[in-house]
Parts: sequence; structure tokens; C-alpha cells
Amino acid sequence: MLPVDQREEIVVLIAGGSTVGAVMTRAVITTSPEATVEEVAELLSRHHITGMPVIDDHQRVVGVVSEMDVVTKPGRVAGDIMTPDPSMVGEEMPLHEVADLLMGRRIRRLPVVRHGKLVGLISRTDLVLFFARHQWACGGCGATQRGLRPPPTCPACGRPGPDFSLEDAPHGM
Ligand SMILES: [Zn+2]
Repeated sequence: MLPVDQREEIVVLIAGGSTVGAVMTRAVITTSPEATVEEVAELLSRHHITGMPVIDDHQRVVGVVSEMDVVTKPGRVAGDIMTPDPSMVGEEMPLHEVADLLMGRRIRRLPVVRHGKLVGLISRTDLVLFFARHQWACGGCGATQRGLRPPPTCPACGRPGPDFSLEDAPHGM
């Protein structure tokens, strides 16, 4: 038997692959509300990231803290400068929906939670990587198309979208 996390990942991939759970970052850098602003700055800098979730002792997301918060907001600890009660998404959310959230609200990243606990992070970069590395192949004629979800109909033969499967895109195309 596979570990639970890997089994869930495979189920997500079979279910279409174009969901948050299939492309999110699982090894998330986090901090606690009690971490000092200096510690937050050090973490962001060391890991070359622009922001991260702030979690409590039970893995629950209580805020997000960004490099902008560090340099613009007064405060001593992460809890002082973080944005509290941030938007969060679930692993089952389709990528085109999370794209609307990330682009529409001009936010860079969203914590991904399961039963209220942090399981990942989804960013604009994850969406761009998905777009670059995958394509949808028509089950009828084999024509391929990029996108965060299958096209409504095949532009080549006219088949409807649910008949599309996700495959790896050729490199450099
Ligand atoms: Zn087709």
C-alpha cells in the first residue's frame, strides 16, 4: 500500500489532473504567529519566497505574511503584521477557478487546506508550470490544446470537452 498522501495524489490525477491538489506545493515553508519579524524576513530571504502561511500549533492557517508586510507594517512578531483570515482553497478546486481567485484578486498564493489544516500552497507560478507542461488531447482526433481545463469542444473535430485527456506536453513547444 502507498502512503495515504501518495494514494490521494494518484486519485486526483486520475480525476483529471487539473485540480489544485495535483499541482500545489506540498512542502510549504511556514511560520508561527510568535515568530519575530526578523525571523520572518530571514525565512523569506533564505527560501527565496515572497510570502508564506502563518500557522498555529494545530496546523491551522491563521494568516499569511509577505515581504511587503515585513517592510511596510510596524510590529514585533508575525502575528502583528500578517494578513489575518486569508482566503483558502481545497485540493479539489479546479485550476481555472483558483486562477480566477489568484488573478482576479491580485494575490500571489493561496493556502490549501483539508479539514481546516494546511496541506499545501497554490501560486500563480504553479498555474504557469501546469500550462507549460501539460496539454489536452482530444479522444477522437488526437488534436492537442493547452489550458487550465479541457476546451469546451475540440477545435479540430468538434468533440465535446469531457472526452479530452491530460498528457505531458512536448518540451520546448
Ligand atoms: Zn478532435
